[in-house]
Amino acid sequence: MQKNDEKSSKHKVVLFNRSEGIFAVETGIWGGGRRGHNRQTVKLHYELGECSCQKYQNERIPCSHALAGRGL
Ligand SMILES: [Zn+2]
Repeated sequence: MQKNDEKSSKHKVVLFNRSEGIFAVETGIWGGGRRGHNRQTVKLHYELGECSCQKYQNERIPCSHALAGRGL
């Protein structure tokens, strides 16, 4: 059993291409395990509502990456 919480608080926007509306969001998951952190970079095309995690376009809800990008 694993808990899935507070992931978005670990997100960090590492690239911001304003002219193209693209963000790269790096996620570091530091969970309770011993694996250390897990880096994953997703590409977010905020204006198109697309994110490489697929959640944004599939569910039509801003994913945690989108929320991180929107804060800029
Ligand atoms: Zn996403």
